[in-house]
Amino acid sequence: MEEDWESYVAIWTSLDICMYCERIMKEQPKRGKAPLTRTKDHIIPKSLGGDLSRYNKLHCCYACNHNKGNLTLKEWREKLLVSDFPDKELIISNIERIAHCSNIFYKPLLNTP
Ligand SMILES: [Zn+2]
Repeated sequence: MEEDWESYVAIWTSLDICMYCERIMKEQPKRGKAPLTRTKDHIIPKSLGGDLSRYNKLHCCYACNHNKGNLTLKEWREKLLVSDFPDKELIISNIERIAHCSNIFYKPLLNTP
């Protein structure tokens, strides 16, 4: 599967859909954060050496971003497998696709589920 990372991200961003759970996102409420608030995830967490390049950023909802926390995609996938997080099968399949694209265009190894 050969996919261009920028066009892949652009499509999802234009649809305003979370790239992990595919739910439609919403504006941030006046106070706090709702589960579907738009956020940017750093695919490789900054705390683990992930950079600020566009290849390491991804459009996703607050609920997914918060659940992923400072985990790599591989670690998050493992966490989801034993959790009851909503739509986890869909999220896991998207994690695998994102990791595949990220490995081509960004950093291999760290991200591979
Ligand atoms: Zn989400």
